[in-house]
Amino acid sequence: MKYPINEIYETIQGEGFYAGQPSIFIRIQGCPIHCSWCDTKYTWNLLKQNETDTENVINKKKSTKNWAFFNVFDIINIIQKRRWKSNHIVITGGEPCIFNLTFLTKKLEKMGYSCQIETSGTYTIYCSKKTWVTVSPKINFSNKIIKNSILRANEIKYPVLKNTDISELEILLKNSKNDLKSKLIFLQPVDQNKKATELCIKLCLIKNWRLSIQIQKYLMIP
Ligand code: SF4
Repeated sequence: MKYPINEIYETIQGEGFYAGQPSIFIRIQGCPIHCSWCDTKYTWNLLKQNETDTENVINKKKSTKNWAFFNVFDIINIIQKRRWKSNHIVITGGEPCIFNLTFLTKKLEKMGYSCQIETSGTYTIYCSKKTWVTVSPKINFSNKIIKNSILRANEIKYPVLKNTDISELEILLKNSKNDLKSKLIFLQPVDQNKKATELCIKLCLIKNWRLSIQIQKYLMIP
């Protein structure tokens, strides 16, 4: 199985449960969701004209629309060659769950890595049993979230810009009945917006939810 990959790099996970954890990020190209506030728009389209070779992807200095096909062994080779010390791997996108990630996650776990997938929850999630799944339902998309992805999630990371976004989350929680009771719920202000941050803090205190503040944006790291 080959995956179209936009970038592979090591940094600090800035969001959700694993915030602060040194991590290797594998960013998969392709996302049909197209959220208006998406900060990785360069990953949306899988255009042949932007296909490049694996070396170009590995050596990227800035985010671009270029991507290359990697198989699992290409990915493992790169991780080993770079001698990165992180033992946590985040598979993100784009929307990584348009692909079956079972073989990749199992293989990485066999090598001693822990795996995490960040997904919008609008596709069925195929990965190893041990993989930590972060479902980040997108604003205006709560009705498209697949029940199975909610069941599989370890954490729900919900982006918040304004009050009405919370109403959507409430509907999602109501529709999910008990499915979400055992999940960690994080509220994440969009784009470090001050009002959204204040709203999230207020609600986290009321609901006993957690705050995710995108540490990477405050630190200006990838
Ligand atoms: S699902 Fe994620 S990658 Fe896709 S458009 Fe929304 S924020 Fe961007």
